[in-house]
Amino acid sequence: CGIVGYIGSKQAAPILLDGLSKLEYRGYDSAGIAVRDGADKVKIVKAKGRLKGLIEKTDDGHAVPGTCGIGHTRWATHGEPSETNAHPHVSDDGNVVGVHNGIIENYQELKVKLLKKGYEFYSSTDTEVAVKLVDYYYKKYEHTPVDAINHAMVRIRGSYALAMMFAEYPDEIYVARKDSPMIIGVSDGNCYVASDVPAILKYTRNVYYIGNMEIGRLADGKAAFYNLDGDEIEKELVEIKWDA
Ligand code: GLU
Repeated sequence: CGIVGYIGSKQAAPILLDGLSKLEYRGYDSAGIAVRDGADKVKIVKAKGRLKGLIEKTDDGHAVPGTCGIGHTRWATHGEPSETNAHPHVSDDGNVVGVHNGIIENYQELKVKLLKKGYEFYSSTDTEVAVKLVDYYYKKYEHTPVDAINHAMVRIRGSYALAMMFAEYPDEIYVARKDSPMIIGVSDGNCYVASDVPAILKYTRNVYYIGNMEIGRLADGKAAFYNLDGDEIEKELVEIKWDA
């Protein structure tokens, strides 16, 4: 239901929690964050219920150090509200970790395909299927996040805003969307992801709008964008002139 991402020179967790609190008005049943400190393994913390629970569990974010992360408030559509079903979701070996807004309509068919390939599922969400589908294509095609996400987008039916981190690509966040909103904000070498402007308005007014079935890659303080062919595309930076 709500997505926030951050990568830059500041600590990510407090920015993620603050951004998620700005999206609380949309309603949610659980929340979670995944934070990465350089090449270290990603740390995931989730909590059922109010964001307050997650804030307490992470000691205002201080318990999860790192300058790269993604966060989510969930409004359950597939699977009951629970800590297990809360996002972020992760592939079996921790290779891909992601958060998702929307609904994967053909998740059952995709889950059957992945089960046959040896994948196991711990949650009943459609999101876990999307994350593991990206992991499947990542391993099949040269370990390239953009190609993996594009292959997954071709197979997925439904609506999604996805933000993901890949174990072999520290300090990078990848996003993709279709029929579910998501923007990228930039400011002084810091990059932000949000499903809605108020989450990041405090940090920047300069944003990129991602089109349907386009990918954004946040790294080195900049955002780059790719189409379904994997070709880089130019995007205009837009200034938000209104206040939340
Ligand atoms: N369909 C996903 C789930 O049930 C995402 C729901 C949302 O947009 O929060 O976990």
